Amino acid sequence: MPSEKFYTEALENPIFKLIGEAAGQEGIQAYVIGGYVRDFFLKRGQKKDIDVVALGSGIRLAKAVAAKLPEKPKVTVFRNFGTAMLKHGDLQLEFVGARKESYNRDSRKPVVEDGSLEDDQNRRDFTINALALSLQGDSFGKLSDPFGGLADLERKCIRTPLEPSKTYSDDPLRMIRAIRFAAQLQFEIEKASLEAISGQRNRLKIVSNERITEELHKILLTNQPSVGLELLHRTGLLNLIIPELIALKGIEEIEGQRHKDNFWHTLEVVDNISRATDDLWLRWAALLHDIGKAPTKRFDKKAGWTFHGHEYVGSKMVYKLFKRLKLPLNEKLKYVQKLVMMSSRPIVLANDYVTDSAVRRLIFDAGEAIEDLMTLCEADITTKNPKKQKKYLRNFKLVREKIKEVEQRDHIRNFQPPVSGEEIMKAFKLKPSREIGIIKDAIKEAILDGEIPNEREPALRFMLKKGMEIGLTPAAEATKEKK
Ligand code: ATP
Ligand code: MG
Repeated sequence: MPSEKFYTEALENPIFKLIGEAAGQEGIQAYVIGGYVRDFFLKRGQKKDIDVVALGSGIRLAKAVAAKLPEKPKVTVFRNFGTAMLKHGDLQLEFVGARKESYNRDSRKPVVEDGSLEDDQNRRDFTINALALSLQGDSFGKLSDPFGGLADLERKCIRTPLEPSKTYSDDPLRMIRAIRFAAQLQFEIEKASLEAISGQRNRLKIVSNERITEELHKILLTNQPSVGLELLHRTGLLNLIIPELIALKGIEEIEGQRHKDNFWHTLEVVDNISRATDDLWLRWAALLHDIGKAPTKRFDKKAGWTFHGHEYVGSKMVYKLFKRLKLPLNEKLKYVQKLVMMSSRPIVLANDYVTDSAVRRLIFDAGEAIEDLMTLCEADITTKNPKKQKKYLRNFKLVREKIKEVEQRDHIRNFQPPVSGEEIMKAFKLKPSREIGIIKDAIKEAILDGEIPNEREPALRFMLKKGMEIGLTPAAEATKEKK
């Protein structure tokens, strides 16, 4: 039996009454549906985006609502989708006409026709996303829950309104959405659904990479991304999206020597880093930090398992992966590449006695990313040996302290050469030539090695010395001042 329950407390914001009135004037009915209703029942805090479905034209309803609002907001119409959007305060309202959908095999864009509320609920991805609250007159606040979505919220269950195989085959993006909601809400995906996802996984090829990564980002931003990643792995989707990670799976043993399973290690690192940061790109770096290990894996009779150069190979792979997944090819890419490239550097420091010059070089190479690099390295500690774990963490703490100390003194982080190329040219009456580069480089190296401080006067003196060493003659003014 359809429930006859009313939930007016979900609709306290006056905007809902106003939408109901606007719909009444248009002679149509309107409902709030989807995420807003779901999150109300989950007490996930007030959602700012609200989906409204109209039994009639969503675009006309949006315009009628805008006309009734004192600030007369602009209505953005998406004719292709038959939807309209307007902003009211911090709320974003989306309007759509109730519709019935049918799908072609080769596209996730449905053929749509006008439909009833029930048709519209049928086309929704999950029962928990098909809950609707009425906005009109006497039925204001009445819940429509044809598929038992409320019970699924209580059971913490992700289930499709219609037959799962068909639901996922029609629009395969729903496969990743199911996993994303399971991960975000800490719900279970119903067995039949999970099996359908595995069975339909190859349908993913009709989904654009942009839409896939949008959901992937949401999975990576959950508290414990391994939950979603593990589901992607179990259903075979991860192998279609990021096969580079699946290639890390498995443990090999030769002559009694084993290496760790770098896939499960990676998931642990992502969970670890997610306790330390909400930054999406730092989490991406954690996910990809070891991808170079599959192609570089070797067994050496003396050294055992090695992954020489995996950081460099990995950073190259990051570029290809970003390109393929339509991730931004801008400074975000460079940042992730840099962290992957440098991901083993602090470990070496933490093993040995930490010298100032090693720390200066680390800061110089990492620049602004130095703190994040340390966070990544700390997350990378997944040893189950408590003694080792303690030791590594203590060493990294020392490295962090040293970084602070050295940075305060030497200001390497945003290193600007203390002597410019022009000054070198002037000092030796040079035209643009390779000597200038040699001297500039020598100054930088001397600073990083701690031979001279990162200051102007010592750098100028060093410049003169170095220039003469390589056979240049300083101009008279230059020597007069600096000798
Ligand atoms: P959130 O915005 O918190 O991620 P949401 O439920 O609002 O969650 P949206 O992607 O904003 O998710 O979609 C709004 C609603 O539209 C969903 O609740 C669902 O009813 C429906 N929906 C979205 N995408 C699909 C899809 N691919 N197939 C079927 N229904 C969908
Ligand atoms: Mg939404």
